[in-house]
Amino acid sequence: MENYLNNTDFLKIREVIDQSRRIIITTHMNPDGDAIGASLAMFLYLKKRGFSVKVIIPDAYPGFLAWLPSAGEILIFEKQPDESRVFLRESDLIICLDFNNLSRLNGLGKEIEGSSSVRILIDHHLYPGEEFNYKISFSKISSTSELIYDFIAESGYRELIDKEIAECLYTGIVTDTGSFSYSCNYVKTYVITAELFRLGIDGEHIHRLIYDTYSENRLRLLGYAVSEGLTVLSEYHTAYITLTRKDLERFSYQVGDTEGVVNYALSIKGINLAALFMEREDHVKVSFRSKGKFSVDRLAREHFGGGGHNNASGANCQMTITGTISKFLSLLPGFMDKLENVYND
Ligand code: 5GP
Ligand code: MN
Repeated sequence: MENYLNNTDFLKIREVIDQSRRIIITTHMNPDGDAIGASLAMFLYLKKRGFSVKVIIPDAYPGFLAWLPSAGEILIFEKQPDESRVFLRESDLIICLDFNNLSRLNGLGKEIEGSSSVRILIDHHLYPGEEFNYKISFSKISSTSELIYDFIAESGYRELIDKEIAECLYTGIVTDTGSFSYSCNYVKTYVITAELFRLGIDGEHIHRLIYDTYSENRLRLLGYAVSEGLTVLSEYHTAYITLTRKDLERFSYQVGDTEGVVNYALSIKGINLAALFMEREDHVKVSFRSKGKFSVDRLAREHFGGGGHNNASGANCQMTITGTISKFLSLLPGFMDKLENVYND
């Protein structure tokens, strides 16, 4: 893998951090393990270096991440807007992690756009936006957390990475690779993971904390999604899951409960494109997953105003759930060839 930190933005970012006093770290809406893991790792690292630092995120993180070191110190803009604004006003640097565009932060993104602080992006999604002063954007890496490990090490502070930071980084790597099942074909991911174990993390315990903490409702919602909500379109190598507001209410939906559900649709033999359509109060949350060369980043970007990675993307649609699904279905005939040949050159 090329040395992606060998560039002027990296040097400049190091310099900007050194010259800052009050730093905000932020990440995307509906944050996942990588978003929160990378943010808390950066937070703990900068705190160790003596900076005044705060993590502010747009909306709540799922309960299965609440055990992460210092998670309790995170400010949630949706719940604590006034307190968040005070920190934003006093900051001189905003570090943006695990997203490529301020629109992914909703209202918090608007506040950041209006702030005069320097904006840095460290991310692994495709097509980083222009609204950042300096950026490190490298899509051929498992996770932003892996990137943060490199960033700290290359900045000359590898010895500051302790067990707590390692737990945050490992959580990001494990969740963004689906427990080392995708985006994990580079040796370096395992070398860094080995380093994290050397620092004393307990991988089995972390796995239990992330994956063995389902509520009964969450497991029943998953069962319902797979048995009742799933539609399989074998001729298009496509499967999708629909969850209406009524379904979510029936199983007392909590943030994070549908994390990973879309992957079950993709796990069927011969299915190369999977989608999850989830009806929310004022929009439809869509998740796309694919195998091989079929780019769901492109699908989400060109047709649903979203984006992400080649094999995992998402969007928030301002249409009805039936309208969103109809649009998706109308696109499939045009993708027939691509969906049949995802592993061919
Ligand atoms: P998920 O389906 O798990 O919410 O998201 C899958 C991937 O797509 C993640 O990398 C996430 O950051 C990205 N993603 C999800 N929703 C959106 C969206 O609305 N816009 C963009 N640009 N990316 C998204
Ligand atoms: Mn990520």
